[in-house]
Amino acid sequence: MDILLEITEPGQSPLPHENTPRSRKRVVGIDLGTTFSLVAAIGLDGLPLCIPDENGTQALPSVVHYGPKGSVLVGWPARDLLVQHPESTIASVKRYMGRGVAEIRARSGTLPYTLEAGEGGMVRILAGKAKVSPVEVSAEILKRLKARAEEALGGKLQGAVITVPAYFDDAQRQATKDAARVAGLEVLRLLNEPTAAALAYGLDRGHEGLYAIYDLGGGTFDISLLKLEKGLFQVMATGGDSALGGDDLDQWIVDRVLARMAITQPDPGLIQACRKLAREIKEQLSDTESVTFDVPDTASNSNSGTKDLLTRTAFEQGIRDLVWRTIPICRRVLKDAGVSPDSLQGVVLVGGSTRVPLVRRMVAEFFGREPLVDLDPDQVVALGAAHQAEVLGGNEPAEMLLLDVTPLSLGIETMGDLMEKIVPRNTPIPTARAQEFTTFKDGQTAMAIHVVQGERELASQCRSLARFELRGIPSMTAGAARIRVTYQVDADGLLTVAAREETTGVEQSIAVKPSYGLTDDEIADMLRDAMRHGEDDMRARLLNEARVEANRVLAAAEAALREDGDLLNEAETQRVKSAMVSLLEATQGEVAEAINERVTQMDVQTRFFAQRRMDRSLQKVMTGRKVDDFA
Ligand code: ADP
Ligand code: MG
Repeated sequence: MDILLEITEPGQSPLPHENTPRSRKRVVGIDLGTTFSLVAAIGLDGLPLCIPDENGTQALPSVVHYGPKGSVLVGWPARDLLVQHPESTIASVKRYMGRGVAEIRARSGTLPYTLEAGEGGMVRILAGKAKVSPVEVSAEILKRLKARAEEALGGKLQGAVITVPAYFDDAQRQATKDAARVAGLEVLRLLNEPTAAALAYGLDRGHEGLYAIYDLGGGTFDISLLKLEKGLFQVMATGGDSALGGDDLDQWIVDRVLARMAITQPDPGLIQACRKLAREIKEQLSDTESVTFDVPDTASNSNSGTKDLLTRTAFEQGIRDLVWRTIPICRRVLKDAGVSPDSLQGVVLVGGSTRVPLVRRMVAEFFGREPLVDLDPDQVVALGAAHQAEVLGGNEPAEMLLLDVTPLSLGIETMGDLMEKIVPRNTPIPTARAQEFTTFKDGQTAMAIHVVQGERELASQCRSLARFELRGIPSMTAGAARIRVTYQVDADGLLTVAAREETTGVEQSIAVKPSYGLTDDEIADMLRDAMRHGEDDMRARLLNEARVEANRVLAAAEAALREDGDLLNEAETQRVKSAMVSLLEATQGEVAEAINERVTQMDVQTRFFAQRRMDRSLQKVMTGRKVDDFA
């Protein structure tokens, strides 16, 4: 580590450039987003700033286009090609990271390109002529940001902190690290996005307590509850909707524009053109009360030159229900953590879509306080990551050790397909936990260790992370051998598992982490393995999850009727009840999608009830009475 002390002269560049004497490490923070990615570094004034491209634009669209002759376009030019070449232009690749084909299909619906289960189940995207993995696509985005940062900082990067959603599991974190490796970046560590946002606001130096980080981006909504205690952050609970964000707000405008044009079956080109227009209108409406725009031209429609107008009021009316969907999720997260909105120390807004005034109002109303908005919500994650990179790179004294938690429980499969938890969900990391197991049969000399991740009781319903065998156990009667299994999770949330027979010291271990000395082939094998088994379990898991969610919704509805049934008239009560019955019926079936659909329907059909309950509860707060905990 450099310990030279040099005096830097302020240059024209706000960043410490190679031309200026330096003792600092060239490190950056990277927000690898679903729709936009950013790179940030600490400027000469000691404050983080996002590094712009040659046109002065900081946000890089997370879109990669694969041209017919092997060319690769990243960012704005790629995004423009989404219109003409959806089949060879990949957007939102973050959704595919660390996931199997079946899982991606189940979550994403129809896609413009073909997915293929490559060797052993690894996902390959057939984008035009190219056949690429999600890791490679993300690496293209990272390479572009790296080049931009190296240009600005005047030399090779020495490390990067890359942010990931707090709920990312092992496979998704691993895939992110792999992408960095392919891009030639050294990952100082992965950092949870909400923690990065909290760091950007310097909350680590502020009051201890609970903070809610509300992140509404392009295609995802995430709410995280962080606890700050003695300078350490812990993720207390997370929630979200992976299919809710600015794109949905755009879609509302698209639908409206198409309806005005009386077009029912638009071609893909027109849809994309409308989306682009919609985004521009939406973003302007965050600052102005109304926008006048040109209705797009199409071959089938001679609207050229026609103008239309959208007011903020009409827009807010239209998107109200969409934005409202984030509120019950916030409520559930607070409930999971057993806290009420008024016990929070602060609320931080993250994500470009939180610039929409209606979003800010709803958040302020629900949490009963004004959220922090001083920092640019699209940049705040990258800025916090840059700050952390500075500390980890040794440029700044570590005043604080970050603490994260495991997002899902890690365990082992035991007899009868049972999942025995070794590291429970929400355990602060790094951590090491051990447990003893024994043999099942007389004379058993080998033991299959199956590492699984998840919250289900049955191992086959959890995600399979790795399998290995401990051999050379001395022949003993069943139950006599003592096998100690240790799970170690490092600061990035990555796992190493070791099994040791205590009487002989025979030991085997496996790591789903490259730097633990495994070859790339072995890692690839393990990832493939993880995918393969992950997919087998997929159907059952989705069905199970759907049923659990349906039951939760039903129980909540029952409680709501019990507590606030008087808010409804006879007909309305019947409506709520019949929605409950049809959901209950769906849970008897075997189709997860059908259940999920009914859950959504029920949410829509009972929204008026939820809103009345919220109003009532707000009234109670205002009159100083106890707030009912309503689901
Ligand atoms: P990511 O999903 O990658 O985290 P961001 O946090 O950058 O993305 O959010 C991107 C979304 O924010 C897009 O839908 C974009 O249209 C929206 N957005 C950006 N600026 C504004 C604005 N001024 N008003 C409304 N929405 C905005
Ligand atoms: Mg984001």
